[in-house]
Amino acid sequence: MLSSNVHRMHLPREVIVGDRSLELIYEVCENLGFNRKVLIITGKITNRIAAQKVGKMLYNEGLKVDCHIVSSHIPTLNDVLEAEEAIEKFKPQVVFGIGGGTKIDVAKLSSAHKCVPFISVPTSASHDGMASPFASIKGLEKPSSIKAHSPIAVIADTSVIINVPYRFIASGCGDVISKFVSTLDWKLAHEKKNEYYAKYAASLALMSAQHIVENVNFFKPCSEEGVRVLLEALVSCGVAMGIAGTSKPCSGSEHLFSHALDLFSPNIALHGEQCGLGSIMMAKLHGIEWEMIRDALKKVGAPVTARDIGIPAELIVKALLKASTILPERYTILNEKCLTRKTAYDLAKSTGVID
Ligand SMILES: [Zn+2]
Repeated sequence: MLSSNVHRMHLPREVIVGDRSLELIYEVCENLGFNRKVLIITGKITNRIAAQKVGKMLYNEGLKVDCHIVSSHIPTLNDVLEAEEAIEKFKPQVVFGIGGGTKIDVAKLSSAHKCVPFISVPTSASHDGMASPFASIKGLEKPSSIKAHSPIAVIADTSVIINVPYRFIASGCGDVISKFVSTLDWKLAHEKKNEYYAKYAASLALMSAQHIVENVNFFKPCSEEGVRVLLEALVSCGVAMGIAGTSKPCSGSEHLFSHALDLFSPNIALHGEQCGLGSIMMAKLHGIEWEMIRDALKKVGAPVTARDIGIPAELIVKALLKASTILPERYTILNEKCLTRKTAYDLAKSTGVID
């Protein structure tokens, strides 16, 4: 019998990032032995942007292709169940998730439930779910992500992703920059609560954040190099979670703050934007150089104040106070500092998040 110390890592076998990488899709399928039947899970818009093209390429190579369109903007358990039905009916060898985060999450979770491998084809780069084994689905008891499985391949075409509004790219940077904080929270949980901690996975997540900071000058609208740097960082974050088997290397107190904002005011801003703002404040709580985080966010064009994204100051304070109760089992700096209304307000004010 295997020892309970055995650590299993589920990682992508192929990661392709680059200009017109979608054209390699058949080759990837062939290499992985998927030569008969594929199901594409996508959204209405992403179907037009990329999925139709992928379907046509595979069909022309002789594969049977079916397409399942997810119509909800925010994925729910019902969307996952419908996708599972489509998988059961069509019995594909592999499921493609083609779209922004939400469609990929539906494909990831439904394929995991049906034990069918999954290929991730992101059409946007606004957060780190594209290569991770975790999916965010709304309507569950907790706003945290649930474990699904890692994609067997990730194909990210920079010529597709470069066309999304720049705000999404900046948001993706915010999600990656937040790893300066999440890795510290994870380490803290290890030191204080003896939680499992994998230094290698934490280093990889941290390196992704450093990768953005070191290449900050590439981030501007229509910069292919910027998109490439961001995709590399996002894939590394996903791999860090795959190695760790938990989202902890990439999700700490700054993500709890973002989840709290979602609870009070869903869709007020993008996930990475909220995590970026949270990172500035949580970095100060950790006693690290929060100005470096704020400046990096500013340079990539991500919001650094509540005003930048139209969040009322009162909501920032409310979310700071709520954050530590969102996932009580996740130990972070918020458990150490126990914010009060006054200290939460002072924290937001002293970091310039509110004025
Ligand atoms: Zn995130």
